[in-house]
Amino acid sequence: MKAVVYKEPFTVAVEDVDDPRIEAPTDALVRITTTAICGSDLHMYEGRTAAPAGLVFGHENMGIVEEVGAGVSRVRVGDRVSMPFNVACGFCKNCLAGRTGFCLTVNPGFGGGAYGYVSMGPYPGGQAEYLRVPYADFNCLSLPPGEEHEDDFAMLADIFPTGYHGATLAEVSPGETVAVYGAGPVGLMAAYSSLLKGASKVFVVDRVASRLRLAEQVGAIPIDFGATDPVEAIKDQTDGDGTDKGVDAVGYQATVPEGDEQPAVVLNQLVHTVRATGMIGVIGLYVPGDPGGPTENARRGELLMQFGKLFEKGLRVGTGQANVKAYNRQLRDLIIAGRATPSFVVSKQLPLSEAPDAYARFDKREDGYSKVVLKP
Ligand code: NAD
Ligand code: ZN
Repeated sequence: MKAVVYKEPFTVAVEDVDDPRIEAPTDALVRITTTAICGSDLHMYEGRTAAPAGLVFGHENMGIVEEVGAGVSRVRVGDRVSMPFNVACGFCKNCLAGRTGFCLTVNPGFGGGAYGYVSMGPYPGGQAEYLRVPYADFNCLSLPPGEEHEDDFAMLADIFPTGYHGATLAEVSPGETVAVYGAGPVGLMAAYSSLLKGASKVFVVDRVASRLRLAEQVGAIPIDFGATDPVEAIKDQTDGDGTDKGVDAVGYQATVPEGDEQPAVVLNQLVHTVRATGMIGVIGLYVPGDPGGPTENARRGELLMQFGKLFEKGLRVGTGQANVKAYNRQLRDLIIAGRATPSFVVSKQLPLSEAPDAYARFDKREDGYSKVVLKP
């Protein structure tokens, strides 16, 4: 089958790879109808990780069940399904507690599995014609048959639940004010989710004009950090106290001020943006400091967070991979009911063959490349 294969930094290719097959009785094979490119793929694409050449990318997958193993009883051939980016067993301590982003079975010691992701288990990705889905009864979310809402449902594998997770970690409640750093697809989903949860004012910080326009389009207040100091701009609009809550949807690849090279820049800005005793949800990715790492950011890791200021303000912080299964059923039902349309972030629908060009443009945050979905 055809698949998007990692070659070297800044290069992917569409190549023939072995067809996946049922390996365990609990597996299913899914024919992919839509698979999205994610900001998380860019960490590997830009060569900041140990992703090996030959890895098939793609963790935001949906499609039609093509075949099931003998131990699969709920999911049936022909079902239309969405797969959380987390590969999870459903029976370990963390899965039983709803923390499927930290499954202890699929990735012992580390916790947390994902398709097409270095260090998150031996699971090839779904930017391909077919995907093997382990523990299929647990990991397939059933969708209504047909083609309606395809791009809305495509957001259920990762970014809609992840944005919602950010707002949930920050415990966003009706009437509150929220600052979201990052207007990438994940930040836009965090802003959208905060509004769904009833926030009164949501600020979205970025400097990419087309992304800030999308934030404004769904009712958030855009803040261009290229033109203004975001902390001051947001404080000015929240009685000088700062917002009740904050979300970091940028992570360790943040653009940092000239001469500075500290990856915790956004975390520190949030510490100053959120009012004393507020809460911060961190969904942007951070990695442990690695003394032998390839970049200054990788070597320093997260060590430069202003913990003293965080303590002084009595702030609380939630972090980590999103537990997609904790939210995807409810968010699916909001889509079906017409109360959520997360596909507003989707700017391009392309065949698999155009993935190499789409990766390059998404990586440059070009206009019109806020979220790319591929149609194998
Ligand atoms: P993206 O790269 O498209 O978006 C990041 C945005 O942040 C860009 O628009 C960029 O202009 C902006 N930015 C850069 N520096 C900034 C700064 N100093 N202040 C404000 N904005 C700044 O990626 P995405 O797809 O939106 O993903 C965002 C992050 O979320 C990535 O780190 C990704 O790995 C992570 N992620 C986490 C989870 C999870 O489960 N926790 C899931 C999916 C993605
Ligand atoms: Zn993703």
